[in-house]
Amino acid sequence: MPVSKPGFRDSASTILPIAFDGRVVQLEARAYEDLAASDQAVALIHRTAGAGVNQVPIVRVHSGCLTGDIFHSLRCDCYQQLQKALATITASDYGIIVYLPHHEGRGIGLVNKIKAYAEQDRGLDTVDANISIGEPVDSRSYEMAANILLDLNCHQIRLMTNNPLKVEALRSAGIDVVEQMPLVISPSEHNARYLKTKKERLSHKL
Ligand SMILES: [Zn+2]
Repeated sequence: MPVSKPGFRDSASTILPIAFDGRVVQLEARAYEDLAASDQAVALIHRTAGAGVNQVPIVRVHSGCLTGDIFHSLRCDCYQQLQKALATITASDYGIIVYLPHHEGRGIGLVNKIKAYAEQDRGLDTVDANISIGEPVDSRSYEMAANILLDLNCHQIRLMTNNPLKVEALRSAGIDVVEQMPLVISPSEHNARYLKTKKERLSHKL
């Protein structure tokens, strides 16, 4: 029987020990399936006994990136952002990573992302590459992330992001973002142009 909560068809939780930075960290993992049963996501929660009842959590809402998060691709900064977020959250009294696998390729999926990379190999930037393959520049919705945060009773959050659109999207979905915490990544020769496009064409604060 699915365990339904408001906004979700099914959910489950467990304790997930992870190896991070040479130590073992215990996280609470809560998995969710949306009402349409099309998307699944997970919240990884780090909460210590020192966290106050009304403590506002530090949150990273992370868009899944198979090439970056798993294989450490140098074409984007997803892996470094995820590692920085994990470092911050596991050092905090109350921190959460909401991980959204269906956000792959800013929502256009894995195959389209690779198609867009091939267009970038021909000289287009990340914005024009998506346009040239007939896909939106960014089709991510943050409704599921907001529903997850509301389920966790996180009406107020401190959000780790460089993306002002993410702050706006969460705010309009009912989450009070009381602070935007930047995630500064040093560019490499492989992702310098990707980061430049994020800054110049997608208004990221880099
Ligand atoms: Zn990536």
